[in-house]
Amino acid sequence: MTPTLERWTVERSRELYGVREWGAGFFGVSDSGELQVTAKPGSFEHAVSIPEVIEGIQARGLDMPVLLRIENILDTQISLLNDNFRSAIESLDYKGSYLGAYPIKVNQQQQVVEAVTRHGKAYHHGLEAGSKAELIAAMGMLRDTEAVLVCNGYKDEEFIDLGLHATQLGFKCIMVIEMPGELPTIISRSKELGIKPNLGVRVKLSSQANGLWAESGGDRSIFGLNAAQIIEVIDTLKDAEMLDCLQLLHYHLGSQIPNIREIRNAVAEASRVYAGLTHEGAGMRYLDLGGGLAVDYDGTQTNFMSSRNYTTDEYCVDVVEGVMTVLDEQGVEHPTIITESGRALVAYYSMLLFNVLESARFEVEPLPDALPEETNIHIRHIFETLQTLNLRNIQECFNDALYYRDEIRQAFSQGNMSFRERALGDRVFWETVNRIALLAKDLPSLPHELEGITQALSDIYYCNFSVFQSLPDAWAIGQLFPVMPVHRLEERPTREGLLADITCDCDGKIDRFIDSHGVKRTMPLHELKDSEEYYLGAFLVGAYQETLGDLHNLLGDTNVVTIRIREGGGFDFVGELEGDTVEDILSYVEYDTRMLFNRFRETAENAVREGRITPVQRKETLQAYKNGLQGYTYFER
Ligand SMILES: *Cc1c(COP(=O)(O)O)cnc(C)c1O
Repeated sequence: MTPTLERWTVERSRELYGVREWGAGFFGVSDSGELQVTAKPGSFEHAVSIPEVIEGIQARGLDMPVLLRIENILDTQISLLNDNFRSAIESLDYKGSYLGAYPIKVNQQQQVVEAVTRHGKAYHHGLEAGSKAELIAAMGMLRDTEAVLVCNGYKDEEFIDLGLHATQLGFKCIMVIEMPGELPTIISRSKELGIKPNLGVRVKLSSQANGLWAESGGDRSIFGLNAAQIIEVIDTLKDAEMLDCLQLLHYHLGSQIPNIREIRNAVAEASRVYAGLTHEGAGMRYLDLGGGLAVDYDGTQTNFMSSRNYTTDEYCVDVVEGVMTVLDEQGVEHPTIITESGRALVAYYSMLLFNVLESARFEVEPLPDALPEETNIHIRHIFETLQTLNLRNIQECFNDALYYRDEIRQAFSQGNMSFRERALGDRVFWETVNRIALLAKDLPSLPHELEGITQALSDIYYCNFSVFQSLPDAWAIGQLFPVMPVHRLEERPTREGLLADITCDCDGKIDRFIDSHGVKRTMPLHELKDSEEYYLGAFLVGAYQETLGDLHNLLGDTNVVTIRIREGGGFDFVGELEGDTVEDILSYVEYDTRMLFNRFRETAENAVREGRITPVQRKETLQAYKNGLQGYTYFER
């Protein structure tokens, strides 16, 4: 580092890691360089320091990685959505109301559904179930009969009966017809049980949404009925004298719709269908827009797939206005608007905290001033290239180095070069690339061909977590999550690196990071210190990541800690769930761990018999095995 560099400030860290952009007012950097979190967006007076929470977690004997939930962030998000709809309704003089329905699949954990129903009660925020298991969870959790309980998903007789019973108990339970085949069963079961159902239909809209996750809208959608099928539903219900049961129109464009235009188009189209159903004589009362309200993961406020080009407030206003415009023109009464927003409610509320185990950095041994006479010609060519390298011929030198590198590889595979000589070739090549990268920093813009260089030369930080378990969407669909250090932010991060997890799978890494101009392949990191742990966080992981995660390499659920930020500052630990032990994980894949232990004991006894170990050593070995079974699946210090 040259001494002329300006002093580093926490403000520069805020900018570098884009905290203000992706943090939605929940995250900030304190003047002492620690990442802070608040449940009151934009107000950091009583914010909580994440390193302080980590200290508290460790004092309680829980190891990293930890999934940390901030309970009152979820409260804030529920209020934000409901309040925004209420004010849109009021300011536009809309005659209907708004009801939220939290889709359980977005995060099914009991703690989460409990928090949604508890805080949501004030707004009659309901639940959406997409399967029998989710409906059973919802019927047990929901107490509020003013709230809706929307049943989506393909339904068998058991599912339908459950829905009918919920209706009988007084729940506003609405069964949405997703497939033409469901209707006859619904009609016959409701007649047999003598319970009048509340029904909805899911429509396939033709407004196609764009986005990484958005595939359920449009003509190719696997769910929902087309116009002709909906008319059939109407006729069938009419024949059964049940047309008044049809009260709701549902659609779901897909999750994470980044562009408000897609949302507006769908609202307009669905409102027309709604009007049509009303004119047909159905008992229409609800228009359910499904999910899609996006999260600005990268903070760019664009229609990029990891972002969104609208605020929650704009979303609410556009939805209410869109419905009104069509229905007023059609002379149809304003319905209760329902949204099944999940991602936007829960994403901010969880973060994954983990420590870095070590780093590998790119380093080349210094080269000699001259190469021995007999050195292979291709190696000598690269060496000469290196001697002539300057700002003007960077590109040319890079191309030459690549060309001769390939020649070296070929010579080696054809048996024309020794292994030691090949190693020298690699050294010369990498030193050349390294010097090119250093020079390239002075170029106003990096030539296209050189873009991969920084990544090739970057550090690898080995981190104590599993991408597959904790950030499955980062691996499966290339989703971006904000990732940054949670401390040392008053210090200049002097390294650039990508993150590898501990699964030893070459896909077990994060090498795509948020950036104001797209996607970055490395992130700025601090140099590791021998005496001190280095902690990073992956943020906005509350939606979809927990149950989509898998047991790759048998790394299990992480510890989960929930805190509540106090009004006047400070925080309380309000929940803690211990992660899986090795024993838990093995039993998930059908091992009988008692049998495993017994077998291993026999192996150890045989070793005693053969004189390989003493009985005392046997005891130590068995103890180590037992400790392993009962331990955490992640790296324990
Ligand atoms: C997944 C899903 C949702 C949730 O979507 P978000 O974009 O997370 O809000 C809502 N409704 C249905 C039918 C879904 O399948």
